[in-house]
Amino acid sequence: MLMPDAAPLDRLADFPAIPEGWAYLDTAATAQKPAPVVDAITRAYGETYATVHRGVYQRSADMTLAFEAARRRVAGFIGAPSPDEVVFVRGATEGINLVAQCWAGTQLKAGDRILLSMLEHHSNIVPWQMVAERNGLGLDVVPLTADGRIDLDAMERMIRPEHKLVALAHVSNVLGSVLDAERAVRIAHAAGAKILLDGCQAVPRLAVDVAALGCDFYVFSGHKLYGPTGIGVLWGRSELLDAMPPYQGGGSMIDKVSFARTTYAPPPGRFEAGTPHIVGVLGLHAAIDYVEGIGLDAIHVHETALVARARDALGRINSVRLLGPDDSAGIVSFVVEGVHPHDVATILDEGRVAIRAGHHCAQPLMEALGVEATARASFGVYNGPADIDALVRGVERVSRIFG
Ligand code: PMP
Repeated sequence: MLMPDAAPLDRLADFPAIPEGWAYLDTAATAQKPAPVVDAITRAYGETYATVHRGVYQRSADMTLAFEAARRRVAGFIGAPSPDEVVFVRGATEGINLVAQCWAGTQLKAGDRILLSMLEHHSNIVPWQMVAERNGLGLDVVPLTADGRIDLDAMERMIRPEHKLVALAHVSNVLGSVLDAERAVRIAHAAGAKILLDGCQAVPRLAVDVAALGCDFYVFSGHKLYGPTGIGVLWGRSELLDAMPPYQGGGSMIDKVSFARTTYAPPPGRFEAGTPHIVGVLGLHAAIDYVEGIGLDAIHVHETALVARARDALGRINSVRLLGPDDSAGIVSFVVEGVHPHDVATILDEGRVAIRAGHHCAQPLMEALGVEATARASFGVYNGPADIDALVRGVERVSRIFG
C-alpha cells in the first residue's frame, strides 16, 4: 500500500488532558479539547458570563454579540448562505430529532417514505422510525458496497417518488467511509426528495460547504470537533426552516404571547426555546477557530496518513480482519478473529492505548457485517505515528495471548 508521508501536525502539546505516552484513539466518540477551547470556556464562566438576548445591561449585550458572532462563525465554517439558517441544538441527535419532528412530522403523510442507509448511527435511524410510526411512513435502507460504502448505484435504482427524504452519514462513524455527498444529493433531488446529511464525523476531518454540496439539512456535534459537549448545529435551508413549526415551546422562541394566541419568532430563534448553552456556543466558536487554524486539508492529509499506517500494519497481523474501505477518513474498524472486541480494548488499555469496542450505536451495520461488535481506532490532530505503533503492538499482544 502507498504510504503518504505523515504530515507532522504535532499538536499534542495543545491538549492538557492527554498525558505523555497515552494513545487516545477514540476521537470518533468524542475529541479531546485543546487549550484555546478550555480557555474560552473558563473565560466565559470566569470573566464575561451573562445571559444572552434579554439583558439590557452592557455585560449581557456583549455576551449576545459574542453568541451571535459564533453563529456567523459556524455559518462561515460550513458555507451556510446565512447565519439565520444555523440553529444551535444539543448535538447531532437533537438536530435530527428536530428535523424528524418539525419537518417530516408535519410535511410527510401516510404512504410517503424515508430512505436511510445500512451504516447509519442509531441517531439517524430511531428518530425516523418514531415519526414513521406516528405518520404511517415507510422506511427503506440503501445497502453497502463490499468495501463498506453506501451503495449509491443501489440508491439510484431504489429511489422512488414516494421517497420524500433521504438521510445519510457523510462519514461513517464505524467504517470511516466517506459518502460521495454531491452524487447522493443529485440522486435525492432528481427523485424530488430532500436530503439530510449527518456530518458528525465529517466536520472534524473534511472541509464541508453545505451550499456547494446542495443538501437541505446538515447536522453535527460540537464535541467531536474539539468543542464542548451539549452543543451542536442544525443547518437547514431557510425556506425549509421558515415553513417548519417550533420544536419546543418556551422563552426566546416567541414573537408575542397571549392566552388567546401566541406567535413565533422567525428561525433560528423559533427552534431555540429556553436559555441556550451560551458557554457551549462560545466554546464551539473557539473550536472552529482552532481547527481552521490548522486547516481541514492539513488535518485530512494527517489522518489519511495515520489510517494508511494503521491499516498497513494491522493488515499484516494474520488474525486481524480490517473493515471498511482503505481510504476511510480518520477511522479504522477491525476484528481480531476469535477475540471479543471488548477483550481487545481491555488489553490495549493495559498498554495505554484507548480505543472503542462495541456496536458503536450502529447495530444494523453490525448485523450487515456479520459481527456483534468491532474494535475501532479513530484519530485526531493530537495523534502521531507513535500512537499507531502502540496500537499495533497492542493488537500483536492480543494475537499472542489468544493465539
Ligand atoms: N451520527 C454520527 C455519525 C455519530 O458518530 C454520532 C456520535 N457517535 C452521532 C450521530 C450522534 O452524535 P451525538 O451523540 O453527539 O448527538
